[in-house]
Amino acid sequence: MKLNNNYQNLKKDYLFSTINKKVEEYKKTNPNADIIKLGIGDVTKPLCPEIVEAMTKAAQEMGKSSTFRGYGPEQGYLFLRESIAKYYSDFEVSIKEDEIFVSDGAKSDLGNILDLFSGDNTVLIPDPVYPAYVDTNIMDGRKIIYIGANESNKFLPLPDDRIKSDIIYICSPNNPTGAAYDKEGLKKWVNYAINNDAIIFYDSAYEAFIDGYNLPHSIYQIEGAKECAIEFCSLSKRAGFTGTRCGYTVIPKKLKRNNVSINELWFRRQSTKFNGVSYIVQRGAQAAFSIEGSKQINENIFYYRENAKIISDGIKFAGFWFIGGKHSPYIWFKCPNKMSSWEMFDYLLEKANVVGTPGCGFGKNGEGFFRITSFGSKDKIFEAMARIKKLFI
Ligand code: PLP
Repeated sequence: MKLNNNYQNLKKDYLFSTINKKVEEYKKTNPNADIIKLGIGDVTKPLCPEIVEAMTKAAQEMGKSSTFRGYGPEQGYLFLRESIAKYYSDFEVSIKEDEIFVSDGAKSDLGNILDLFSGDNTVLIPDPVYPAYVDTNIMDGRKIIYIGANESNKFLPLPDDRIKSDIIYICSPNNPTGAAYDKEGLKKWVNYAINNDAIIFYDSAYEAFIDGYNLPHSIYQIEGAKECAIEFCSLSKRAGFTGTRCGYTVIPKKLKRNNVSINELWFRRQSTKFNGVSYIVQRGAQAAFSIEGSKQINENIFYYRENAKIISDGIKFAGFWFIGGKHSPYIWFKCPNKMSSWEMFDYLLEKANVVGTPGCGFGKNGEGFFRITSFGSKDKIFEAMARIKKLFI
C-alpha cells in the first residue's frame, strides 16, 4: 500500500493556529484586555429573514409525505439554477441553466475540479493568494509557477507571455488583498489563456462586494472567456452562507479541450462523487436571489462596506500604503517602518489589542503586509481604528 506522498510536501498551516496561540497567551497575562478581532474572513451578520423563512418552509415540506423530497438532481434544483442564471443576466451575461452546477461551496469545487486535469499540467498562481489553490495542487503533485503580486502592480499581476501554463488562478476581488481587476486587465488574462490553450479558474466569491457596475462581476463579461474559463462563486460572503454552505460553478458548453466538453466531464465527476446540496439549503439560496432577499442582503453588504470605509479612512490617516476596502471586505496595508507582518501583528496585539492577519501567511510576497477585514461590528471597528490611529500619529 502506498500513500499519496505529495501530502508530505504540504507546509504546515500555522497561520490561524499561531494567531490563536498568540492571542490566548496575551489574554493569560492581560485578562482584562478588550481584544478586537478583525482577522478572520468569516461573515458576522446573520442570515436575512427572507432566507430563514424560505428554509423554514422547506424544512416543513420535508416533514410531510405530500411534499417530502429525497435525492435531488446532482447539478442542483432547476429553480435555483434559474435564479442564478437570472442573476448573471443582471451583468448582461447569458448563462444557461445546464452550465450551472450547485455545490456546498466554492472551496470544495475549487479543489474537486482538479480531478478533471492531469497532474502533468503546470499551474500559474498569484502570490499572495488564498492558500487552498496552492495546497490542492501540491496534493496532486502539479508544478506551480508563482506570479508576483506586489506594490508596483497594485497586487494585480498581468500575464507574462514568456511563461507557459495550463491552469491559471484568478481571484477578483481578491482574498487577501482586496484588489479587483477591471475589464482591461481580465481581457489580458483571457487573451493569454487562449494563446496558451490554458484554462482560467476564476474565483468570484467576493463579486457581490463590487461597488457599482464599472468592474466586472463575472469573467464572462469578457469576450472569449466562455472558451477558456470556469467560474467559481459562493453564497458564503454575499449572503452569509459560510455555515449554511452553498456555492455554484459555471462551466460554459463552449469550453472544450481536445474536443472534450469540460461541462460534460464535470457533470460526470459530480454525478459520480457528489449527491447534491440539501433541498432546504437550495430553497434558502433561491431566496438569496429573490428581489426581497437581494434587498436584505444588500443592506448587510452596505454595512460591511461602511466598516471598510472606516478602516480605509483610519489606515489613510495613519499614512500607510494600502489597497482594497472599496470593492472588497478586505483592506491590505503595508506595515510601516519596515516592520515584518508578524512584528506588526505583535505590535497591534500588544499596543492596540487589535488582531489582524499577517500578510506573510498568504505567500512570500505578503511579507511586510497586513490584512484587516470589515466583517465585524461597526462600534468595534471604530474603536479598533481609533486605537491604531493613536499609535501611529
Ligand atoms: N474563495 C475565496 C477567495 C475565499 O476567500 C473563500 C473563503 O474564505 C472561499 C473561496 C471559500 O468559499 P466557500 O465558503 O463557498 O467554500
